[in-house]
Amino acid sequence: MSENTFELPHNSPVEPTRLELEDKIKFQCHKGISCWNECCARADVSLAPYDIIRMKNHLNIESSEFLNTYTVPFEIDAHGIPGIKLRTTDDGACLFMKEEGCSIYEDRPTACRYYPSGLLSMRALGKSEDERHFLMVKEPHCKGHDEDREITIADYRKEQVVEEFDELNRDWYRIILKKKSTGPTIGAPSDMSLQLFFMASYDVDRFRRFVGSDSFKSMYQVTDEEFSKYAEDDIALMQFGFALMKQVLFGELTIKERDGAYDKRTEERKDILAYRKEVEIDKHNQKAEEARKAALDD
Ligand code: SF4
Ligand code: SF4
Repeated sequence: MSENTFELPHNSPVEPTRLELEDKIKFQCHKGISCWNECCARADVSLAPYDIIRMKNHLNIESSEFLNTYTVPFEIDAHGIPGIKLRTTDDGACLFMKEEGCSIYEDRPTACRYYPSGLLSMRALGKSEDERHFLMVKEPHCKGHDEDREITIADYRKEQVVEEFDELNRDWYRIILKKKSTGPTIGAPSDMSLQLFFMASYDVDRFRRFVGSDSFKSMYQVTDEEFSKYAEDDIALMQFGFALMKQVLFGELTIKERDGAYDKRTEERKDILAYRKEVEIDKHNQKAEEARKAALDD
């Protein structure tokens, strides 16, 4: 038995078939095919961190603007792990679809590259390592399945230049897989850890400002050299984000904290808790006083 994390690239009523790298599929998509653009006209595309870096850099905008303009949120699991999908028109068409095809083709996301196949990450029960399989979805509108070309999944991945995407997103898929399989045993994640997950996964430019802040630098032992790299290199920063997520979500010691940082954080939290308690007591006293006055007036 195993648990699967894969979101089908497009909503499909069709039961997918599980495949391995050496399995062949009969499929070809090309301009001029009768169903040209039909898949993008009903897009349901979940995004991974490296997808966003490629797309926001293609559009030459910051990640926050990309998220606001081109994506919608959804929940990946019952614990509220946040996911994002490409925004569509009211009719369901991808905003990047043009008559001649995808307007960001060379930087299109992983799910679009795989379609009509997809990556299926699984973790067998009792095993610590994840397994990779693939799937294929046959949707009636997609005529690529009628074309006379056979290709192995391994070659299709090469043709669609998806290996690099899988490699760079791999740690993130593992984090989600681990969160899904261990979630209930280590409790629901706090709002703060979910916010960090969102920022480090999807909003890389905001995460860069967070990592460069004095408060972050006072907490973690990161060298100036590393900070300079994160200031310029989206991929290095994304990978640093994965390490930080492992620390925050699973308590793994992936990034060294400064001496006394834990105590300092605990002290700060104590101060905040004490302050909140005072506010609650004040509110309670105020309500009691109002009730007393109202009773006297009666
Ligand atoms: S990003 Fe491109 S390939 Fe993907 S759904 Fe949109 S138009 Fe189609
Ligand atoms: S063959 Fe399939 S993937 Fe290609 S344009 Fe048609 S519906 Fe889209």
